[in-house]
Amino acid sequence: MKPKSHIVNLPVYQPGKPIEEVKRELGLDEVIKLASNENPYGSSPLVKDAILSELENISVYPDGGAVNLTTALGQHLGVNNDQIIFGCGSDEIIALITRAFFVSGDETIMADQTFSVYKSNADIEGAVCIEVPLKDGIHDLDAMLAAVNERTKIIWICNPNNPTGTIVSGSALTTFLDAIPPHVMIVLDEAYCEFVTDSSYPDGITLLDKYPNVVVLRTFSKIYGLASLRIGYGVGNAKVIKLINQVREPFNTSRIAQAAAVAALQDQEFVEKCKKLNAEGMVYLQGEFDRLGLSYLPAHGNFIMVDVRRPSGDVFQSLLRKGIIIRAGHQKYPSYIRVSVGTPEQNTMFIQSLEQVLVLASV
Ligand SMILES: *Cc1c(COP(=O)(O)O)cnc(C)c1O
Repeated sequence: MKPKSHIVNLPVYQPGKPIEEVKRELGLDEVIKLASNENPYGSSPLVKDAILSELENISVYPDGGAVNLTTALGQHLGVNNDQIIFGCGSDEIIALITRAFFVSGDETIMADQTFSVYKSNADIEGAVCIEVPLKDGIHDLDAMLAAVNERTKIIWICNPNNPTGTIVSGSALTTFLDAIPPHVMIVLDEAYCEFVTDSSYPDGITLLDKYPNVVVLRTFSKIYGLASLRIGYGVGNAKVIKLINQVREPFNTSRIAQAAAVAALQDQEFVEKCKKLNAEGMVYLQGEFDRLGLSYLPAHGNFIMVDVRRPSGDVFQSLLRKGIIIRAGHQKYPSYIRVSVGTPEQNTMFIQSLEQVLVLASV
């Protein structure tokens, strides 16, 4: 058998370790996962009711066009229905964009430490990835602009950036967009936008009228707490969204996910509450890192990168043995771990364990 030559050596995506696996492997009863930026408060209670009602219909194919959800989201965002596309997570929207746009040899620009799904999908489609180093943990928009040429098709900007948690400001972004030639698509991944409290942060949706080459990605996996249901979306110019729709599988999102997302949108009070609790958790974690003398990157999502000043993989293993799962092994940040903001109890347990791990290691 002969697979496409350029996929033969691609890595398989390594997700945050599942709780069940860690319990089994280490014989632990209690395990806290602060590794995948999930919502520690679950999802709105309206979601469970919506799912239960939808159970009546599981033998019937979903609405491939997700009309109810599209209408609800269009109203929520103030955009037309034909500007929206749903995917099996926004991960799928990333895959669909690369499928619709890249041919072998196209170039695509992204940060050298950002969400890995851009590169994995670009690689699958045979595009050449130009990875531009972050500057102080932040997207270097000037350097990204300088990397543009006639082969450039897509630039990926993750805002807030995963894993660094940093943001680009509205003014930096519009200066950049004004300078980008119109043949280049800008994908603005705003998976964590609902958590951001900084007033310089741009809302990508407001840029769409002026910049038809921008596509905004968002998701129900993070603040809405629906990660397991796999539903995310892209918003952009209607012509671009139509092209992406042309390569979408007919039934890519489930009835349960669509119904859950409609219900989740209705409960903005839950979203506001989670945003506030997340901000409080962030203040707590930063205060504790200060107390421990650890530096960290300015964090604007629901996770933070902290410098543990030793190989992050060692700290990962030590925390794992204490039943705490975090992320480590970020290529450009070998001494940093990424931890999601949990509940106050989870945050306290994480800090206690981290302190023990760091003290033991320095004896
Ligand atoms: C979590 C995440 C996503 C997508 O998540 P889905 O569950 O596929 O919607 C997209 N981009 C970034 C940066 C993320 O962290």
